[in-house]
Amino acid sequence: MLERLLRYADKQLHFGELVTGVRDHRRWSHVPTADVVTAVLDMFFARLGSLNALEKLNHLPAWKKLPARSVSADTIGRVVDVLDDGSLRASQKMLYTSMKRNKQLVAPSHGLIALALDGHESHCTYNQRCQGCLERDIDGKIQYYHRNVTAQLIFDNFSFLVDMEEQRLEKVS
Ligand SMILES: [Zn+2]
Repeated sequence: MLERLLRYADKQLHFGELVTGVRDHRRWSHVPTADVVTAVLDMFFARLGSLNALEKLNHLPAWKKLPARSVSADTIGRVVDVLDDGSLRASQKMLYTSMKRNKQLVAPSHGLIALALDGHESHCTYNQRCQGCLERDIDGKIQYYHRNVTAQLIFDNFSFLVDMEEQRLEKVS
């Protein structure tokens, strides 16, 4: 079923081209970026909740027949962390253009398409911090957290993710 879905997506939306257009910032790579991006898409298409759930499928004979299906959860995590924003946005734009051209994005009956901006907090902790952490004082104790903002176009049949940016701490000099 997943293989048929991917074939359909490739035919209708040129998924293969979208995936191979994504780059990353690794100095050397053993696993192609396209394999990692395909594995992540598989995770979403199969509605799996985590990279570890995806990795558990690697031993299934039917799964092994599909291309790019033996990427470990650790490798996916490392590569996704260094994906190139510009190439991701270019692929996203190609996907939007294909979906518009194929009339797969249906405007609501009033004809207006909303742009929804939404903030998400991915995690918070009192124990660890990285260079990108935001900080807040909770009852005298510093809490570290990450927050991002997403922009989506709201169609009648689909919400199309336009972009996402991490909120950064503004340095005042
Ligand atoms: Zn952090």
